[in-house]
Amino acid sequence: MEGTLTARDKVGVQDFVLLDAYTSESAFLDNLRKRFSENLIYTYIGTLLVSVNPYQELGIYTMSQMELYQGVNFFELPPHVYAIADNAYRMMCSELSNHFILISGESGAGKTEASKKILQYFAMTCPMTESLQIARDRLLLSNPVLEAFGNARTLRNDNSSRFGKYMDVQFDFKLLEGGEEELLAYLGLERDPKLYKYLSQGHGANESSINDKNDWKTVSNAFSVIDFTEDDLENLFGIIASILHLGNVCFGENHQGCAIIPVTHEIKWIAKLLGVQPSVLLEALTHRKIETKTEEVICPLTLELSLYARDAMAKAVYGRMFTWLVNKINSSLVNKEFTKKTVIGLLDIYGFEVFDKNGFEQFCINYCNEKLQQLLIERTLKAEQAEYEMEGIEWEPIQYFNNKIICDLVEERHKGIISILDEECIRPGPATDLSFLEKLEEKVGKHAHFQTRKLAGPKGRKRIGWMEFRLFHYAGEVTYCTKGFLEKNSDLLYRHLKEVLCRSKNSILKECFLVAELENRRRSPTVGTQFKNSLSSLLEILISKEPSYIRCIKPNERKEPSKFDDFLIRHQVKYLGLMEHLRVRRAGFAYRRKYEHFLQRYKSLCPDTWPHWQGPPAEGVERLIKYIGYKPEEYKLGRFIKGFINRDKPLCPDNEEFIV
Ligand code: ADP
Ligand code: MG
Repeated sequence: MEGTLTARDKVGVQDFVLLDAYTSESAFLDNLRKRFSENLIYTYIGTLLVSVNPYQELGIYTMSQMELYQGVNFFELPPHVYAIADNAYRMMCSELSNHFILISGESGAGKTEASKKILQYFAMTCPMTESLQIARDRLLLSNPVLEAFGNARTLRNDNSSRFGKYMDVQFDFKLLEGGEEELLAYLGLERDPKLYKYLSQGHGANESSINDKNDWKTVSNAFSVIDFTEDDLENLFGIIASILHLGNVCFGENHQGCAIIPVTHEIKWIAKLLGVQPSVLLEALTHRKIETKTEEVICPLTLELSLYARDAMAKAVYGRMFTWLVNKINSSLVNKEFTKKTVIGLLDIYGFEVFDKNGFEQFCINYCNEKLQQLLIERTLKAEQAEYEMEGIEWEPIQYFNNKIICDLVEERHKGIISILDEECIRPGPATDLSFLEKLEEKVGKHAHFQTRKLAGPKGRKRIGWMEFRLFHYAGEVTYCTKGFLEKNSDLLYRHLKEVLCRSKNSILKECFLVAELENRRRSPTVGTQFKNSLSSLLEILISKEPSYIRCIKPNERKEPSKFDDFLIRHQVKYLGLMEHLRVRRAGFAYRRKYEHFLQRYKSLCPDTWPHWQGPPAEGVERLIKYIGYKPEEYKLGRFIKGFINRDKPLCPDNEEFIV
């Protein structure tokens, strides 16, 4: 007993559910820190895996490790991303249900690494056709995410690197590294990815992945199995290359404050690759058509709006091309003999975002996270209830925060924030970001999870400033500035640019931008509403699958190994919703084991069960528990296979990593 306690002190518990002070954030951080300092980067919260980026090779991804985790029960080995992968695989095989692994965390937290490790695990341990299937499914499932996020993220021009990041996620952009010389020349591209703003701004994450030639192989393999013709490939690459060129188009300003494009090098390449008139494209990027009842007026755009138009075009072209690609893959899959109903999806997304200034993008991302939390709550609680029912144990309502109220606040028809925003965008007369705020105040001002400056909180809390509102998300409060909300919400590809794209000679683009669309004068849905809709189709997919969760944490900003930045990590623990998640998992009886396992593990604590218990395991467990002195309300014995214990009175630390 003493030995295990020392181990627990040293390396913490391998499942946060076993923490005594499970509601304490400090205890949570202590545990994480202890483990991290011992290079134990993985910890469970039930079946959710928390991973802290070690920023160093730990030698834990060897072939023998992979073999170790194959087919082993989740809790019998130290936490590992392979356990998640193996579990997903076995669920897929045995239960014939779809499985889904959701990976979230900040940029640099290790999401892409985690998904690579999982794919490697599948590649090494599953039969060939299945691993291929999984790799391709990864492409398939990325689509709704792309639509959902692409929208929100490319709006702000200073942030277009993120757009690049999404492309990186989809294609692991080895185009450039693995590409043939002639192909690059044909596309007018240089090999160095740093030359492309959409690829290289900010993160540097591309550099590491771009060297990975294996991924390029996966992508080209995927292309080869989905009936792509040479022409298709040429057109597809043409589109991707034109997006890269587009990101490099620079704008200037003339004396009247209108946008101009001083250097037309990129415009020429884009025009060539997309088969459009360079002069028309140039005009469309710097002007806007306004239709009145009687005539059509062409107005110059400001510099800011031009940048905005450029990114909107990149986003639209990329988004639609991707949808086209997915449809193409889908239809070719239908004809293949190894189409199986069960698949594993991998999704690599951002967690909550909280900056000093939060705008429309953060609003969308955080709303997305609220929805994912909803899904998690529903699924976890449902699964819990089902297990209790099966074992014949009474279900008691538990304490957790159900964030449905916040989802409703954002998305409810006619009443929610998105609807209010839409109304402001559409209504005749002058609407501004301020009038939007006033509408919010009027319509949801009294909501418990909403605040504006008029209702500034208690002293000590940061004041809400001019043009700001605050939402109390499940993970914490976030203050949003309404500046730009209206404009960003109405962001749609300007008609002018749409016309150019509809006339493209690129055969894929032609299918993506149908001329018929121009004739349809109906108003397209706003960005917020599109986002809401993509999110709901994403959730529909997720709900049909059994999810596993991986939450990645970045330990410090400098990519240093062994550096545990408390402040930074506390922030992530909060906004990844880990404490809330733990609370949901701890609901009811946190510790449950099969009778046999339980007995095997603890039989030495009671003379009746030591060294052997001859009767039925359930009776042995009962004897043991009573002997130790558990009160009736502290445990329950399931009807069939399991015992449940209330972990407020821990029986014994269940940490097997360091027991010698
Ligand atoms: P994200 O996709 O979340 O932005 P990445 O997966 O690209 O982050 O990780 C960033 C970098 O951190 C990687 O290039 C790698 O150097 C390092 N890293 C991430 N996870 C691990 C790991 N499990 N072991 C070792 N290094 C890692
Ligand atoms: Mg990544």
